This record gives sequence, C-alpha cells and structure tokens, in this order.
Amino acid sequence: MKVSFPRMGTSYIAFKHLIEHLGHECVVPPAPSSKTLNLGVKYSPEFACIPFKVLTGTYIEALEMGADTLITSGGVGPCRAGLYGMLHQKILKNLGYDFEMLVFEPPLLYLVDFVTKLRKILKPAKISWRRFYKELKAAWQKLMVLDDVEILSHQIRPYELHKGSTTIAFNKCLALIDRADSPDEIARSKEECIEILNSVPQDKSRKPLRVGIIGEIYVVLEPFMNLEIEKTLGELGVSTHRSIYLTQWARNNTIINTEGGIRKAAYPYLKRMIGGHGINSLGETVLYAKNGFDGVVQIAPFTCIPEIVAKSILPRVSKDLNIPVLSLTIDEQTGKAGLQTRLEAFVDLLQQKRMMEENVYARFSGN
Ligand code: SF4
Repeated sequence: MKVSFPRMGTSYIAFKHLIEHLGHECVVPPAPSSKTLNLGVKYSPEFACIPFKVLTGTYIEALEMGADTLITSGGVGPCRAGLYGMLHQKILKNLGYDFEMLVFEPPLLYLVDFVTKLRKILKPAKISWRRFYKELKAAWQKLMVLDDVEILSHQIRPYELHKGSTTIAFNKCLALIDRADSPDEIARSKEECIEILNSVPQDKSRKPLRVGIIGEIYVVLEPFMNLEIEKTLGELGVSTHRSIYLTQWARNNTIINTEGGIRKAAYPYLKRMIGGHGINSLGETVLYAKNGFDGVVQIAPFTCIPEIVAKSILPRVSKDLNIPVLSLTIDEQTGKAGLQTRLEAFVDLLQQKRMMEENVYARFSGN
C-alpha cells in the first residue's frame, strides 16, 4: 500500500515512521503551500472552513504523488469535521482518483469500526497485534520527542542573540529525529536536540512577554496556516505557550477525557460543548490569565462556528481577568505582512501594559 495522511506541523515525521514500520510505502504529503491552498479552494465548497480546503489540496497532491490509501481521523460533536472524511472522499472520487480512504473514528465510541479499519492496514504486511503495539509505541515516543523539542525551541527563541538561529537549530533537530529508527535512537535524538537548542547563543537577561496561543487545532498546529505565528512572536522577543500539542490532545481525548480543568475554567462563560476547540479557547484564556500571562492570541479559521462563538465571549473574559486578547481570523486572503503588523501592535500594547503595571507597583511598594 502507498499510504498518505493530512500534514499537521511536525507530526508527519512520526506518522511516516509508523507507516514504514508497518511495512507500507509512505507518501509524505508536501508541506502545505499556496499551490495546496489554490487546489483546495478550487475543489472545495466555497463556505467550507480553511482546514477543509487545505486538506483537499493536500490529498490531491498526495494522490498525484502515487498514494493509493489516505488515512485520516473522523470526529463527533457539533462541529462539521466529523463529515469531512466522507465529503473529501466524494470530491476526490468525482475528480477521478482511485484510492481508499480510512477514516478513524474515536476508538472508545466506535471500537468495531476502528479494529476493522486497522486490520486493513495490518493484514497486507502480516503485522501481528503485538508488533503493531510495539511500532505504535515507538511512533508515539517520536511524537512526544517532536513536541518536547518544539516546546523547547519556543522557549529559547525570544532569548536568541542572532535572529533565526533557533529556527536553524530546530530544523537540524527535525532531521535528526526523522533519522532515528529504534526506541533507543529516538531517546538519544531527544538528548542531542536539547544540546543543539541549548547551544544557541542567548541573552538570558531579557524578560520576554508571555503570550498564550489558543484556537482551532489545525490552524494552531500547522505553521503554513498560522503564517508561522510562534516564530514571528518569538523573533519579536515574546515567549509563546501553545495550548495544543498533538500528543496532549490525543492523551486528553482519545483514551480518556481529562480536559475537565479547562472546561471548569470556561464554565462561568460557557456551560456546554460547542464542538471543535471553542470551549477550550475560553477555558485556556482563563487559565493563562490566572497564570500571569501577558496576553493571548486566538487563531480562528474563517467560518469556524466554535471559534466564532468563543470569539464573541472572549472580550468579557479579557475584561474580567484583565488580559488582552487578540483574535485573528485566517482565510485564504490572509497575508503575512498584515499579520506581522497586527502582532507588532499587540506586542507594543502588552509592553506598555507591563510597564504601567510595574510603575504602579513601584509607586505603591516604595521601590
Ligand atoms: S473546528 Fe472549525 S475549522 Fe475545525 S473543522 Fe470544525 S468548523 Fe472547521
């Protein structure tokens, strides 16, 4: 089988590892680009959200590269993501592509369907369940390393002495993790990556602003979609903390739901699930405010209902908890220059707010 999947941030490295270790050829989808987006816009319904459009383009590119099987996740709940697998399949078949699409629904809700689809992947290469578990564990380990190394890169970037040096080091790390084949090699690659990133020349005397990034999972995780917001803010000297990482999301939602803390934080503002990451966006903003962050940036795809609902409530959260929130709506017209200007203005505002608060504190404490 020639297998491909949606590309989201750095996770493709771990998925590639798993597919190859299960005995299949992996067609790594190219990083989303304007070509991907143009294809997606051309063949998707006009009012589909932008993640849908980019995935349409990604699938077309992967099928053109020879993929015969597409693996994706389904979804339950009020957001339309649960229908996307089926809709993509119809669009791509109408375009004349011959392939099979395996849409994996949450295993706790659809166990039989999950196992049946998994068998389709394991059977051709005669992979036992035991071996599958071993390979899955190694791929999960790789995913965790990718997330850990990325988190570290975001912590280091605001201190870098030479603009861009953290990104160069991070790209070296990605190549290293990609090459790691066994669990031991994966563990070693993490140690090496930590060394590589820590050796980026830094000015530790800086006191960067701390900004939380919230929003819909696809636009938060895929740098092409969010126009590299974390890199942009990092290079403006801001330390970013992203609310979503794939390993964290999977741990919270696939095995057992442990997002109670976020829901509890959101409860005074929103009492019911609205699908997608809407309720998380509110709860995470509350938690960022309570943990002393200077500001929050919400990234929302145009026409995404859960994020539109969250966006309409966020001004109240912002006022109640005295935390500035910048909401950015992403669509196919969003340009990097415009986004950079808005981020620079937001960072200026946060700096002034911090200075004012420090002055007030100094006046009343006599320092
Ligand atoms: S959460 Fe929003 S952007 Fe994501 S699939 Fe649902 S509607 Fe689309």
